[in-house]
Amino acid sequence: MMDDPPCPCRSGESAGTCCGPILAGRRRAGTAEQLMRSRFTAFARGDLAHLLASWHPRTRPGADDLATSLGDGTRWLHLEILRTDAGGPFDQAGTVEFRATARGPEGRLVLHEVSRFVREDGAWLYLDGDVSA
Ligand SMILES: [Zn+2]
Repeated sequence: MMDDPPCPCRSGESAGTCCGPILAGRRRAGTAEQLMRSRFTAFARGDLAHLLASWHPRTRPGADDLATSLGDGTRWLHLEILRTDAGGPFDQAGTVEFRATARGPEGRLVLHEVSRFVREDGAWLYLDGDVSA
């Protein structure tokens, strides 16, 4: 569709069939990777509500802190999923390794992280992650 641009998470699907419905709360992420993709899209769009809703309450930052980091001028440009472990429709936990590229106030920025996700009451949540160089 002409008015349905490619999803920011670079899945190859349109935003309207990929992360859009998850950000809008119309569909739950079925896998940890889908949640990871939707969170990247939320960072790219500055969607504070989805970032908070998809973050485990135990590790979730305060809304003010998150809003400040979203407003620092960083533009998230590219996501590459490198590896997934579990995190499927029948799992309660999983990890997603990814490389995300952004342009920040100080130039190009690459985030390489292994993120941990857990599922509670059917909903995937981001728990925490290990960032590597
Ligand atoms: Zn997407």
